[in-house]
Amino acid sequence: MENLYYKSTRSEKERILSCQAIVNGIAGDGGLYVPESLPAIDLPFVKLLKMSFNELAYFIIRKFLTDFTEDELSFCIEKAYDEKFDTPEIAPLVKKDDVFFLELYHGATAAFKDMALSILPYLLTAAVKKIGIEKEIVILTATSGDTGKAALESFSNVKGTKIIVFYPNKGVSLIQERQMVTQAGKNTFVVAIEGNFDDAQTGVKNIFNNKAFNKLINKNNYMFSSANSINIGRLIPQIVYYIYSYLRMIEMGEVREEQKINITVPTGNFGNILASYYSRGMGLPVNKFICASNENNVLYDFITTGVYDRMRQLKLTLSPSMDILISSNLERLIYDICDKDSLQLVKFIKNLENTGTFKITEGMRSKLMDFWSDFATDEQTIESIRDVYQNHGYLIDTHTAVAYFVYKKYLVKTQDKTKTILASTASPFKFPHSVMRAIQGEDFKNNLDEFQLLNRLSTLTGLPVPKPLKDIGNKKIIHNRFCKKEEMKDVVAGILKV
Ligand SMILES: *Cc1c(COP(=O)(O)O)cnc(C)c1O
Repeated sequence: MENLYYKSTRSEKERILSCQAIVNGIAGDGGLYVPESLPAIDLPFVKLLKMSFNELAYFIIRKFLTDFTEDELSFCIEKAYDEKFDTPEIAPLVKKDDVFFLELYHGATAAFKDMALSILPYLLTAAVKKIGIEKEIVILTATSGDTGKAALESFSNVKGTKIIVFYPNKGVSLIQERQMVTQAGKNTFVVAIEGNFDDAQTGVKNIFNNKAFNKLINKNNYMFSSANSINIGRLIPQIVYYIYSYLRMIEMGEVREEQKINITVPTGNFGNILASYYSRGMGLPVNKFICASNENNVLYDFITTGVYDRMRQLKLTLSPSMDILISSNLERLIYDICDKDSLQLVKFIKNLENTGTFKITEGMRSKLMDFWSDFATDEQTIESIRDVYQNHGYLIDTHTAVAYFVYKKYLVKTQDKTKTILASTASPFKFPHSVMRAIQGEDFKNNLDEFQLLNRLSTLTGLPVPKPLKDIGNKKIIHNRFCKKEEMKDVVAGILKV
């Protein structure tokens, strides 16, 4: 097989293999790594129907990670998608009327981040070994809730790694905090910081960019790396489940081979929807990508006007994992629609950095025709949960509800009858307060804490509390580190004993 190379979105300088791109995470020029071309699905879909999730994952990912050996990649996949998932299907597809809910929350932390983070530690440690780096990897992560726990769970007890997660004290939900501070694994460290998510994020970036500190830890045989969604090693595994779910639709007799589908995704950092876009680049027949935002609707504005404008106040919504104004992975889409012209891309990025906005050309806008976007308010989110539960007896979380609302709006506006996959990104049990409010309406009395609400929700709906959240209120708290935002580097030094 010929090697596939990766380059930065912002320059033509580097041309590297996947293991180097995964280890680097972000390019030296600040750009994101992209494959030089997208490999094609080079077999008819009917030939793929018999593959298990893991077999398909191997078939797809192998085309991207050409420098991994068969054994290395099989090992990563088998370790990632195993009994941690509560269903052997890994990503089941559930039909309700004309919508196909792609349930991506059956992994270790009950949110879709598990799909990619289950495999990333194995890809990363294999890549480090291939390159011949003998240092221990220290993953630094700032989290607003879901990523932190998924990263902790996936790196827990992985040899040759340590993981340190910073979260804003009082800035995550009670359940999210408890999920993190009860994390087992000798190599895991969790730190609450006095400040908000931006402070945590900035603190982590400052540590990454501190040359003297990096030198010091290198001397002590450590190197820093990151597990956030700009790493190409997190994006590629997300392509798999779109192709997998299309195969399930063929199997169910819902579409003929090559018949087009729509894909609806609740979007924040633009990683999940970009993976669906890449899957079309590989040959999946997609008609429309429906990008659903909450009230932080920068992407809706961008897709409908061609202007990206982050100059606004961040709103805290009921779908917190989408509360984001700088959608990092959008850079990869922009790069694609400006015909891979890095010079032009850098102009947009500079404008964004200097003025908080940029505007794409009409020619580029015409390449966004296959994207459709809208947004949902908190009230519309709650109504959507209620609507789906009352009409279909099916329970969805707040993020999935945002996507459902936007999809319904799309139907009314376009009358498009194309069958649609909707990415269902979290278990409803992760957000029991909002979900209870939705299905109980006026009767809902808020005098129970979130842990009690989990059981109440289970009793009310007859659905079991997912294993990762079961008895979470009674689990032993293991981590109790706390620091000021100025002290983050010292905390890391203390943990690493440097
Ligand atoms: C991260 C997340 C999203 C947003 O996904 P992106 O890839 O950042 O667009 C949506 N829903 C949930 C539950 C998430 O955790």
